[in-house]
Amino acid sequence: MKIIPGRSDGPSDERGPTFTGTVLADPVLPTTDEVTINSVFFPPGARTHWHTHERGQILHVTSGHGWAVARDGHGGAIRAGDTVWIPPGEEHWHGAASDGYLVHLAISLGGHEWLDAVGDEDYERGATS
Ligand code: MN
Repeated sequence: MKIIPGRSDGPSDERGPTFTGTVLADPVLPTTDEVTINSVFFPPGARTHWHTHERGQILHVTSGHGWAVARDGHGGAIRAGDTVWIPPGEEHWHGAASDGYLVHLAISLGGHEWLDAVGDEDYERGATS
């Protein structure tokens, strides 16, 4: 067993070029036995690129609202209290609504692969489905 302490002082981690917009994250569980948990903040309109997770991912929305959308069009609006299961290998993106922020816990299983950016057209299509 291991107890992982909560947030320490210092800046949040600013996510890099596989995100659109300024996305901030704090680690909750550093990768342990191939499980990684982060608390991720998306300002309005910000989102991930398309990507996959080797063994799947669980998103739990802790506040705000946004979108979780699969390449095949499944998914949709998510809001505080919702939980999303993304199966292994499913191409998807997640992010904030255009008119509000999103904070979710991201519980990622195994590795991940980043793909192309979610363009404005795809974002708007996903965000109205
Ligand atoms: Mn994901």
